[in-house]
Amino acid sequence: MADLAGKVVVVTAAAQGIGKASALAFAKAGATVYATDINEVLLAELGKTPGIKTRKVDVLNDAAVTSAFAEIGTVDVLFNCAGFVHSGSILEMKDADLDFAFNLNVHAMIRTIRAVLPGMLERGDGSIINMASLASSTKGVPNRFVYGLTKAAVIGLTKSIAADYVGKGIRCNAICPGTVESPSLQDRMHAQGDYDAARAAFIARQPMGRLGTPEEIADLAVYLAGATYTSGQAYNIDGGWSI
Ligand code: NAD
Repeated sequence: MADLAGKVVVVTAAAQGIGKASALAFAKAGATVYATDINEVLLAELGKTPGIKTRKVDVLNDAAVTSAFAEIGTVDVLFNCAGFVHSGSILEMKDADLDFAFNLNVHAMIRTIRAVLPGMLERGDGSIINMASLASSTKGVPNRFVYGLTKAAVIGLTKSIAADYVGKGIRCNAICPGTVESPSLQDRMHAQGDYDAARAAFIARQPMGRLGTPEEIADLAVYLAGATYTSGQAYNIDGGWSI
């Protein structure tokens, strides 16, 4: 595991799921972690872990992002984990869903990156990790039109930033998970009516025959935080879905 001692890591959407597992993994690797989310109740629990400080930050809110990052100061690693899954095809899409998804899944990353990049450039060092998905430009997934579109934009955003700053000490990579056990996945399975059938269908699309765990994705985030010879890449971690 990477040694992140002395590094400051900010994670968005850190109160549950992959973000929470990543905050815990970054702390275990020795970093000082700022776990941010809008769910203050869950954050308070996470804040009891040594090495983890918590902040309420709504990544949809420009002013909140700017003031939180100004308060945090130096950031060595930014993990943009916030995102929302809309279900449905293009014909079922509401314009409001598209606007919301672009705001949360894409624009929020632009907000946080703008807040940390000048400091990273000043120090000539920084790792930015963006949460995409296998459902993106990597793979067309049925009933994920808005989601796949916005997560494809995350990969484009990642590569653009990587290209602009590769010679200036900044690495920017994306993580593309398959289906991962998380509270929002539980919600999606319950929302389908027949929970057992929904769960079986999610598992069936993973060739390894099981869902991923948030901890498995967190391990990749920790690796990317410390990895010094990779940038602009979209890392599939998907139980074999993309083979
Ligand atoms: P989750 O969806 O269960 O939790 C999301 C967290 O985001 C919650 O704690 C919520 O409070 C927080 N959040 C929501 N709106 C916010 C806002 N405006 N500002 C700050 N925080 C906000 O977690 P998950 O399923 O692990 O998903 C995390 C990320 O991983 C998302 O970007 C998702 O698209 C991506 N992803 C998940 C899966 C999966 O199968 N779970 C697969 C691929 C990619």
